[in-house]
Amino acid sequence: MTRDVVIVGAGVEGLSTAHALATSGVTNVVVVDRDAIASGGTGRSAGIVRCHYGVPEIAALARESLTVFSEAEERLGSPVGFEQVGYLVGIGEDNLAAFRASLAAQQALGIDTGEVGHDVAAALWPVAELDDFASFAFEPQGGYADGYATAHAFAGSARSLGTTVTQGTAVASIEVRGDAVTGVRLADGTGIATDAVVVAASAWSVPLLSPLGIELPITPYLVQEVLIDPGVDLGARPVFSDMVSKQYVHQRGHELLFGDSGGFERPIPDPDRYPTHAEDAAIERCAEKALHRFPGIADPSVKTTSTGMIDVTPDWNPIISATGIDGLFVAAGFSGHGFKIAPAVGRLMADIVLGRPSSVPDVPTETFRLSRYDEGAPVLSKFPYVGASKIR
Ligand SMILES: Cc1cc2nc3c(=O)[nH]c(=O)nc-3n(C[C@H](O)[C@H](O)[C@H](O)COP(=O)(O)OP(=O)(O)OC[C@H]3O[C@@H](n4cnc5c(N)ncnc54)[C@H](O)[C@@H]3O)c2cc1C
Repeated sequence: MTRDVVIVGAGVEGLSTAHALATSGVTNVVVVDRDAIASGGTGRSAGIVRCHYGVPEIAALARESLTVFSEAEERLGSPVGFEQVGYLVGIGEDNLAAFRASLAAQQALGIDTGEVGHDVAAALWPVAELDDFASFAFEPQGGYADGYATAHAFAGSARSLGTTVTQGTAVASIEVRGDAVTGVRLADGTGIATDAVVVAASAWSVPLLSPLGIELPITPYLVQEVLIDPGVDLGARPVFSDMVSKQYVHQRGHELLFGDSGGFERPIPDPDRYPTHAEDAAIERCAEKALHRFPGIADPSVKTTSTGMIDVTPDWNPIISATGIDGLFVAAGFSGHGFKIAPAVGRLMADIVLGRPSSVPDVPTETFRLSRYDEGAPVLSKFPYVGASKIR
């Protein structure tokens, strides 16, 4: 079998890339996954969608992706569970200057965001204690979507255009002759001939590329989240990034999903082995922060917890790039924030594969090149927040 492009990994990044290639007329494409669509980080994602970033190119990818989330049924043919409840971020005095500079940069990119006062924030989150914030910003178009549904929507739409998605099919190795890709070898011993391979296999990309002399600087990390039953009906509330206590919260049904943004993610030796439930220390930290921030929640109880693996790079930004090998590309290292940008990432990756200029405004194709680490040119926030994880 010969394909124009083989994509390794049926997570949201691989499938979005397949979809972008298909809408460009490149449909002799197969996406292969060792397990199932969205079986990796995508299916575990909190799915928060927002544009509040100090890296302008990430903000622009998020801005472009918003249109796809909000028009998913028209564009992809099926819903992605997008709840456009808005995104509220609260900031402390120590980060106020960086926050205002970041907001101005976001607005210059055309992002619908603006500073709001305590009165507006209190109306959006009446049960929250807000006195220790210096200010807030609100993005009315933010919210959260469903990772599983989004991956399936991209897969369904790409399939309807002619792309093949094959599950339960592990890629064992990438075949190269001289300086160019010739195909992939599957775990069952068969092969697929191609002169273009996109590796979109999260932290599992590392062992696929290392035999070719490409060492991806990606480390698997554990993230832990806690689902709390508030004991009261809160109505629909925006996603809330609390940059004082360093936590984020969004509703899942009438429950609240809490995550920590204080840098407590930790490296794990094996991306396939990590606890399936949050550890006691993580639950206690979460409960403490939640109780401080939401004293108005009458009778909270921990409903359940969830965990996941994120693929972290040294600058906490993705690698969307050619490699030194002709026809070999990588879209990995999304560092825990790849969901909200995935629709535009697919377009950018397709542009790189097809050797054409970026179709994503404000995001040149070379921005997330792999070589930036060797060049000492990491992609960093222009407006970093003190004490926060690097994905702001
Ligand atoms: C708990 C959690 C919460 C998150 N919350 C958010 C959020 O709120 N907002 C946000 O923007 N981002 C969030 N993220 C990050 C986001 O979900 C990920 O960045 C994104 O889903 C990664 O997609 P991916 O396609 O790169 O990887 P994955 O979804 O992991 O897909 C990789 C695929 O590759 C396959 N694969 C691996 N090896 C092989 C092989 N050898 N052969 C074939 N297939 C292979 C795997 O089976 C897998 O399906 C969160 C992540 C987690 C874990």
